[in-house]
Amino acid sequence: MEKVLQLESGTLFRTIVKKIIEPRGYEVIATDVSATAFSILEENEISLIITGNELVDMSGVEFIEILSKSKFSNIPVIVLTSTDSLELRTKLFSLGIVDYILKKDVNTTKLENYFDSLIKEDTLLKQIQEESIAVLDDSKFGLNVIKNIFELHKIKNVTYYTDPHKFLADYEKYSIFLVDLVLPEISGEEVIIQLRKKKKDSVIIVVSGITNFKTISHAMMYGADDYISKPYDNSIFMARFKANARTYFLYKELEKRAVTDGLTGLYNHRYIYDYVGTHIMEKEKLGCNFCVLLLDIDHFKHVNDTYGHQVGDLVLMTLSKIFDKAFGEDAVCGRYGGEEFMAVLKNTKLEEGLKVVNAFREKIMETEYPGQDFKITVSGGLVEHSTETSAAIIKRSDDLLYIAKDSGRNQICS
Ligand code: GH3
Ligand code: MG
Ligand code: MG
Repeated sequence: MEKVLQLESGTLFRTIVKKIIEPRGYEVIATDVSATAFSILEENEISLIITGNELVDMSGVEFIEILSKSKFSNIPVIVLTSTDSLELRTKLFSLGIVDYILKKDVNTTKLENYFDSLIKEDTLLKQIQEESIAVLDDSKFGLNVIKNIFELHKIKNVTYYTDPHKFLADYEKYSIFLVDLVLPEISGEEVIIQLRKKKKDSVIIVVSGITNFKTISHAMMYGADDYISKPYDNSIFMARFKANARTYFLYKELEKRAVTDGLTGLYNHRYIYDYVGTHIMEKEKLGCNFCVLLLDIDHFKHVNDTYGHQVGDLVLMTLSKIFDKAFGEDAVCGRYGGEEFMAVLKNTKLEEGLKVVNAFREKIMETEYPGQDFKITVSGGLVEHSTETSAAIIKRSDDLLYIAKDSGRNQICS
């Protein structure tokens, strides 16, 4: 659980802060002694400090001054005080606090909004920590500066390169790249051009001491997403880095949604239909056999009519989870339409495919649904691709599905 340190002597403001923060999943540790605060900081991982200006052993300003020179200087600080003077505000902001809130102005919405954005930032940072990042700078010193900033934010999945060729050779492993513009042998622009060609959707950020506007705009024209100039300021560096990462994650999310079925999480109709075509081309290159399965739930209308649409949805979701895992890592599964599903079984011959699909069909016969006492069955048409087009192979599986239905359901025709 994330922790917040509050320096405050009054019980009223301790209660207010606790009430707002704890439901959001944070633990609040409170004290009004700065010495105690530092031992709390030593023993806990604190995500945020909220301090008043009157502490038992010193003023809030003095506390922040010491804090800003300590190893905890990276923790964001909010000042919550009843003292208001322009001089005090200026002083505190110059010490790096992130906000200054007057006690008389405290309304829950302000603190709530603050916390909600803090949580969002936190989620973003966790996403970043899971990405693979590559940094290229011919100067070891330059690399170290970035390394220190990343380590401060616990971003550890980073590989540091001084050699542009090695960096380019490894491109496939990463999604976020930081590139220095001035390099030996090859220019930073050339690296950006090559990288963008190979990795269309990645984030490429230029890091350089060059401040010439023409150079910067050219680097961005060649495909860089942003430019961070040296010497780096820790917080500006991270803010820019995060802004780029945020856009990248949003893009990835949109991309995912465009191919996913909302109810079941399987690939949607368009994706699975197109995939058959793509896989036919792949087969022409690699020459591997594959099968297409079209599957349909038997008498599904009856489920809806008897138990309601919500129960129908529950059946679709449960079945989809089993379907998605039924044919191994190599299979691609989608929701073809309403209660129809399609799978492409890669590297599979008909006989082998029929075995796994029948095993799945038998599993469905036994599957129970949370809170329900009925079971369902499925019918399917399974075909192995020969030389036909995607439309033709899908038509063939559909014809076989029709035969399976006509011959009494709960069977796979091939
Ligand atoms: P058959 O064995 O011949 O396939 O009969 P069936 O009842 O399964 O087929 P039919 O095509 O008559 O009905 C399909 C039903 O699937 C009708 C439709 O309301 C239902 N359905 C389609 N999409 C959804 C969905 O997203 N949720 C729910 N609950 N029902 C859906
Ligand atoms: Mg049906
Ligand atoms: Mg149907």
